[in-house]
Amino acid sequence: MYEGPVQDLIDELGRLPGIGPKSAQRIAFHLLAAEPADVTRLQEVLQQVKEGVVFCDVCGNVSEETTCRICRDARRDKTLVCVVEEPKDVLAVERTREFKGRYHVLGGALDPLSGVGPDQLRVRELLARIGTDEISEVIVATDPNTEGEATATYLVRMLRDFPGLNVTRLASGLPMGGDLEFADELTLGRALSGRRSM
Ligand SMILES: [Zn+2]
Repeated sequence: MYEGPVQDLIDELGRLPGIGPKSAQRIAFHLLAAEPADVTRLQEVLQQVKEGVVFCDVCGNVSEETTCRICRDARRDKTLVCVVEEPKDVLAVERTREFKGRYHVLGGALDPLSGVGPDQLRVRELLARIGTDEISEVIVATDPNTEGEATATYLVRMLRDFPGLNVTRLASGLPMGGDLEFADELTLGRALSGRRSM
């Protein structure tokens, strides 16, 4: 244990995902030795990210304005909606350059053991969107792991009730057990273009 703020910093850093005690300590001492201007810059972006970033009121993606860039873009196909778990998955799908529709970000995946049920995800918002917008196809692009599969199964069941709505899933071929963002562009692009109706 270090004294005072140094230990507080190590504790805070250690709470971040993927940062163990050793890394937290290394980052803390790096910051202690860093130029004040560098630390100030980090401080500023941390503050901005909490104050300046909002979630798009249509799709739930991170955004600088109340409606995100993709939802505002009139060239994007309104009738096609790709449902993903997290904003980072939007980036992964965008990188494939295969998709010209819009998104819906759930904010996670069903995980009953951790207390995440449909009410903790943006499922109600998705159903409301389908009810009002002229959406003809929903592509379920949750992660290829247990929680993602459970979420997809649940969504397909919920979406079956909408007449005329085509519900599709990414083609197989994505590495199982992983995260959408770990699939390379080519594989994800193929999974997207080879999607099948449920
Ligand atoms: Zn949006």
